[in-house]
Amino acid sequence: MTDATDTTDTTDASGTGGAGGTGGATWVLVLNSGSSSVKYQLLDMAGERRLASGVVERIGEEGGVADHAEALRQASAELKERGLGLDSPALAAVGHRVVHGGTRFTEPTVVTDEVLAEIEKLVPLAPLHNPANITGIKVARELRPDLTQVAVFDTAFHSTIPEAAARYAIDTSVADRFGIRRYGFHGTSHAYVSAATAALLGRDPAQVNVIVLHLGNGASASAVRGGVCVDTSMGLTPLEGLVMGTRSGDIDPAVVFHLERVGGMSTDEIDTLLNKRSGLLGLCGANDMREIGRRMGEGDEAARLAFDVYVHRLRRYVGAFTAVLGRVDAIAFTAGVGENSAAVRVAALDGLEALGIHVDPVRNAVRGSGPRLISADGSPVAVAVVPTDEELAIARDTYALARA
Ligand code: ADP
Repeated sequence: MTDATDTTDTTDASGTGGAGGTGGATWVLVLNSGSSSVKYQLLDMAGERRLASGVVERIGEEGGVADHAEALRQASAELKERGLGLDSPALAAVGHRVVHGGTRFTEPTVVTDEVLAEIEKLVPLAPLHNPANITGIKVARELRPDLTQVAVFDTAFHSTIPEAAARYAIDTSVADRFGIRRYGFHGTSHAYVSAATAALLGRDPAQVNVIVLHLGNGASASAVRGGVCVDTSMGLTPLEGLVMGTRSGDIDPAVVFHLERVGGMSTDEIDTLLNKRSGLLGLCGANDMREIGRRMGEGDEAARLAFDVYVHRLRRYVGAFTAVLGRVDAIAFTAGVGENSAAVRVAALDGLEALGIHVDPVRNAVRGSGPRLISADGSPVAVAVVPTDEELAIARDTYALARA
């Protein structure tokens, strides 16, 4: 399956002139290898144009390809068919999304055997994600051993969070022994969107404080002070924080003991309950905000409750991160729900004029594609919808390292 979003021009050409260390090659392949799918995008960094994108799904499942190696070969064959083969001399590097970088990786990193071994050591922190990312890297290295491969970590942007926000209040020796702390995720998106928000305001990112609300299937909030992340809602894993499509977000940890002791559930069952059968899905049986909106229109009470719980959590984080930042210049909504649901945006920020937040209902309701303001003129806090583009961000980081 390949979508045909060929040659989409991206808005920000951030000085990607010559091609230094890549011998004139300007293409970057971005791979996002999940447990059962591989998403890929091929970009030409001369002008930041998207050449092709697609996804190979159902890896290891019936009717799908056998494994990640096979998935990558299929992606490669799809690209070849379109005259964009990975054997092309125009390909400069491959960028990989890697979910967990632990405390070891705080920046995009060129993959070496040593780096790969370090990423493998982090598997216990991300048992569902890192193994797929590692396989993607290995297969891509076999396919083109001559190319620079770059790992871009979902946790990296959050590595600047101060200890006061990163530490859980548990026995420090236990925490340190098991690597328990707030790492945060969606970092590539939070970095990209906070910078794009400053650009939208026409201001120097170093001078702007932004609350980013990344509301996709997974959802997270971050507090970014002058381009530096100072707090985020996800924690040791992507389970903490906001209500998500299928994840509970914040919950009293004693719920887990209660389910074990009183409910007789196993650790794995509770893991599945909280990660896959909770959130919007658990509250009303649907995890897609579009369906929830439709059902609310028909007077469905469960859908209304799910929406209300989702929005209430969001407001809590807006309030908390307002206090963390002290001064907020902008609130930016991004990802599937954030970019598309005017209802969620207005409900999340309704009645917060005392915090300097004034949403313009007409601007909020207008559909658009690029970054745009939805706050009223003169609102002390700018409110914006800023589409995220994690693949472009990964491609930029990858290309920068390949050229260095
Ligand atoms: P992922 O986390 O998988 O990258 P996305 O950022 O693509 O997810 O967000 C997917 C979610 O966005 C969907 O589950 C749906 O709830 C929501 N969404 C997409 N389009 C709309 C829309 N037009 N209105 C409301 N919600 C939407």
